[in-house]
Amino acid sequence: MSSIVFFGIPAHGHTNPTLEVVKELVSRGHQVWYYSYDMLREKIESTGATFVSCDDYDTEQKLSAKDATRLGKDLAFSTKILVDTTLALDEKVCREMEELKPDCIVADSMALWGKAVAMKLAIPFVSSTTTFAFNQHSAKIMKQGIGDLVKMILGMPKTTKQVNRLRDHGYPVKSILDIIGSDENTHTIVYTSPEFQPCSETFSEKYAFVGPSIRKSCESVEKQREKLLYISMGTVNNDMLPFYKSCIAAFANTEYQVIMSVGKLVSIKDFGELPENISVFSHVDQIAVLKQADVFVSHCGMNSVSESLYFSVPLAMLPQTSEQKGVAERVLELGAGIRPDKADGTAVLSAVNEVLGDDSYQQNAAKIAKGFQNCSGAKGAADKIIQVCTGVR
Ligand code: UDP
Repeated sequence: MSSIVFFGIPAHGHTNPTLEVVKELVSRGHQVWYYSYDMLREKIESTGATFVSCDDYDTEQKLSAKDATRLGKDLAFSTKILVDTTLALDEKVCREMEELKPDCIVADSMALWGKAVAMKLAIPFVSSTTTFAFNQHSAKIMKQGIGDLVKMILGMPKTTKQVNRLRDHGYPVKSILDIIGSDENTHTIVYTSPEFQPCSETFSEKYAFVGPSIRKSCESVEKQREKLLYISMGTVNNDMLPFYKSCIAAFANTEYQVIMSVGKLVSIKDFGELPENISVFSHVDQIAVLKQADVFVSHCGMNSVSESLYFSVPLAMLPQTSEQKGVAERVLELGAGIRPDKADGTAVLSAVNEVLGDDSYQQNAAKIAKGFQNCSGAKGAADKIIQVCTGVR
């Protein structure tokens, strides 16, 4: 039996794919501790892992609303927040890892503190990547998305200061890329297929592309028209009332059935009386909707895109962050979706008409779905972790 410690960040999208893996490890008799945040406690405990709360050390949750919007957009600021969290957790995590003596640490690629403590205490380490893995090859292809990110990281004099702060606490870090970047020598689990990952052939054998983790849905959605369109801008940057209203105006009285998930920051009452073909919810069972949908108008979060393609649903894409732009770029490249000219109902309607008018979008989505279904999934990820625990290099 091995003992394994997971480190996560306070985000459902980064945690969900790991849950099946933890369940698999627990079912094989391994012991798992999961350092994460109270918002995820219930989900994590349901896997059989021991939950350890990091809320008291979380710099992110103490940010003002204005600063919180800088996360993910302003990279120098984001790095500082990550290093702050690492140093806040330093004493607790180092002490507890020395007591637990885990056979392996598995940390989300953004949970800097997991990789940092593994480096400091020389504990075998696996990185868990819920977005695309990047190296110099994939970065080139993802010009507008991940490429930008790499350029920004490398061009950031401010990160040197953050690296020095880590070094002062005994972390053997040469550059911030040691921690944020994926490299050839780090065992890495990537939750996508080798076909969907850009340049997957350029990654070393330490990388396991295990495919997306698609949860089971408990609901069923009734299709009322021949074509069903689903609109969602995800769960984070979804406060977009004018956009949702413009979609309602554009799709009212069309032949399409429209289901829209607008998140909890927008009040459903603000939409007034809805056209007969459109329904709006704060949250839906996205898997159940995608099983019936013909097109997904999406912000291109990695999970949403993977779920859409898994069910062979082509996309109309409105990415907001550089990570989402990278994902959208890859979908464009594989011909499984298009990008409307702007985030506006009329532009979205014409993109949807185009996707539905050309079967190749759906066929290309179905090809990617096949690749996903051939992946080793949670079992493959668990195998990889156990190999690292038992010293297979
Ligand atoms: N989701 C859902 N119902 C909704 C909206 C979103 O179940 O009404 C789920 C969706 O299935 C996906 C996750 O929330 O698994 C969103 O993750 P993603 O990476 O796409 O975007 P984020 O919300 O992190 O920007």
